[in-house]
Amino acid sequence: MRSYSLISPAKINLYLEIIGDRPDGYHELVMVLQSIGLSDRINLRSLSTDIIRVQCDHPQVPQDKSNLAYRAAELMAVKFPEAFAQYGGVEIAIEKQIPVGAGLAGGSSNAAAVIVGIDLLWHLGLTQSELQELAAKIGSDVPFCIAGGTALATGRGEELSPLPNLDRLYVVLGKYRNLAVYTPWAYQTYRQQYLSSYVRDADSLEARRERVHSGPMVRAIYNKDGAKIGQLLHNDLEKVVLPEYPQVLRLREAFISAGVLGTMMSGSGPTVFALCETEAQAQQVQQQVRQSILDPDLDLWVTGVTTNGIHVST
Ligand code: ATP
Repeated sequence: MRSYSLISPAKINLYLEIIGDRPDGYHELVMVLQSIGLSDRINLRSLSTDIIRVQCDHPQVPQDKSNLAYRAAELMAVKFPEAFAQYGGVEIAIEKQIPVGAGLAGGSSNAAAVIVGIDLLWHLGLTQSELQELAAKIGSDVPFCIAGGTALATGRGEELSPLPNLDRLYVVLGKYRNLAVYTPWAYQTYRQQYLSSYVRDADSLEARRERVHSGPMVRAIYNKDGAKIGQLLHNDLEKVVLPEYPQVLRLREAFISAGVLGTMMSGSGPTVFALCETEAQAQQVQQQVRQSILDPDLDLWVTGVTTNGIHVST
């Protein structure tokens, strides 16, 4: 085949704990990541010339080398020069549904889709762990996006332990169209405010890894206890983002008033998600929040959790 169409799902963070500074300059994290139904579509096509081309209609998505999907294709060309020479370049057409810069890993998921798609286009036959190893070179969230589902992510987010699949949980997402949180700002501010007195050296980092607080959330997932998962949602970055962004706080409060299982900001925000037991309840929550906030700038989506990572569209 000379073309593939892939589905590239977004993720939410059911849990995000910042442990400290790593010697390599990244933050040591413990996260529980969950794929959701809201997805982009990535259409990949082999070209007869040796160029990589990205096309996307969304005004905030770059179409040059800074696009994560472009970087993924470039990495594949460098790692597999013979296949690149044999099969030629690729055109990557991105159909965006996932809001951009939203804390939903849209760009990371697109990069994951390109790695999976080029593996197919070039008949490389890479294993899941080889695909994830390549993905980690693009970004910390990219390996998770390959496999999807529910996973515990440690290290800088690239060390993954699969968790049992969550079925039948519904998600309402809310994001103000013109609101953006700059991810490095969120981490830097958290570091300044909370990490000044500890976890600077490798030894204490090792000790702190033993004292993470994700255990109850992981148990709730094993028990498939939606109510408990809702109560245990956690994101350290909320501590710095909520005081600075009152709209995010207000959205969170509106979800709570609507009687959801739980609500939390995803990643560094500004998207807020809420968990619901049924699709009907999720739709009712969406309507109630829309009516209580009455802001034309607020976008709301209803979707579900999914067990899917990157997959070929049928
Ligand atoms: P994360 O949750 O991984 O921090 P995010 O959801 O906050 O990611 P993205 O939607 O991935 O953010 O976009 C972050 C920035 O990356 C955007 O401002 C955009 O300019 C750039 N970008 C590069 N490639 C892509 C892509 N394929 N899709 C979306 N944004 C991209």
